[in-house]
Amino acid sequence: MSALDPVVLGGPPILTEAVPLARPPLVADAGLLGTFGAILAGGVLTKGEQLAALERELAEFLGVGHAVVVASCTTGLMLVLRTLGRTGEVVMPGFTFMATAHAARWSGLTPVFADIDPQTFNLAPPSAGDAIGERTAAILGVHIFGTPCDADGLAKVAAERGVPFFIDAAPAFGAEYGDGTRVGGKGVAEVFSLSPTKTFTTGEGGIIATADGDLARELRIAREYGNPGDFDSLFAGLNGRMPELSAALGRHLLPGLPALIARRQELAARYREALADVPGVGFQLVPSGAGSTYKDHCLVIDGEKFGTDRDVLAYSLRAENVPTRNYFDPPVHRQTAYRDVATGPLPHSEALAASVIAVPLYSGMPDVVVDQICAAIRRIHHRAGEVGRVVRAERPARDPRKEGDRG
Ligand SMILES: *Cc1c(COP(=O)(O)O)cnc(C)c1O
Repeated sequence: MSALDPVVLGGPPILTEAVPLARPPLVADAGLLGTFGAILAGGVLTKGEQLAALERELAEFLGVGHAVVVASCTTGLMLVLRTLGRTGEVVMPGFTFMATAHAARWSGLTPVFADIDPQTFNLAPPSAGDAIGERTAAILGVHIFGTPCDADGLAKVAAERGVPFFIDAAPAFGAEYGDGTRVGGKGVAEVFSLSPTKTFTTGEGGIIATADGDLARELRIAREYGNPGDFDSLFAGLNGRMPELSAALGRHLLPGLPALIARRQELAARYREALADVPGVGFQLVPSGAGSTYKDHCLVIDGEKFGTDRDVLAYSLRAENVPTRNYFDPPVHRQTAYRDVATGPLPHSEALAASVIAVPLYSGMPDVVVDQICAAIRRIHHRAGEVGRVVRAERPARDPRKEGDRG
């Protein structure tokens, strides 16, 4: 045993305490607490001036005509899909978070899963084109892990086939396209999430960004039960509203966001540099000129070159106090909820789901923690054969999909 041995081979853990996989950057200064106090004292907890101001500030930040704030990204996607007023199928990637598909289902539409580009992990325009049929109502792209998808390529495919294109931008608030514009301005609408695991949070919430004023007006009615104001509902809407306290938190955090994203990008670059020469470790490709939020920073493990597989690495890193997550495994088209949707093989989605592993990244993370995590990955690689044998013997035999830190 030596200090350089991985924990699973008897060495000391590289981190003496577990670090978080993600942590929302929240600062409650006197100004914010004063605003909260004023909202409570005023008694207007919903549909007040905080929401109206947040919507204006978000539209300006994103450079879009309209930002309609809602209760969650899932709600926003459901409302956008409903206001399309179409029935049939929605083409989307199989490698995405479950809510992308759920939004289609809840809107009475059927998800049709297409494959991804193995480098960017995002919906591949040719595969989306192949999935389009007579019943296609829309194409739904996703900015996986906060890295912009090929929105122009997907929009072109959609236009050629006469179907609308919009985007689940949940993890990408603050990301930039390769053309230098902020994510939020492409497609019919882009829908962001403000839940606490994302880079910009209001506790819970969502933003629908759109240039279409008629759509924005309809969405504001839709998030209000379909009530245009005279209590004669026009259609079956939802309560999709964000409370004033959350809107105030969003306004408080928005100005600091670009610096937080820049820090995340620095940390991701540090990981990539430190692991560049480790065989069998790959990364999501961020398109040239684009900026990712790295909502998740994922490694792709080629088991043959690395010496052992993703699940053994996840188990061994946990022993080093490094939490990880096998994200998204199983991919949504392989989940129980979508067993009834006939999906042919999506080879790139399936290969990625089996080899992807998210590693800790949060804006308050010190450089040295990245260095320690990378050192742990290196020493596991150096002894990969032995590590694999020990871990397979000691790990309880269970579904490898359930390995890794979930939540
Ligand atoms: C987080 C996430 C969602 C869900 O967002 P909510 O605000 O929790 O509804 C949807 N799609 C993707 C790709 C996500 O990452």
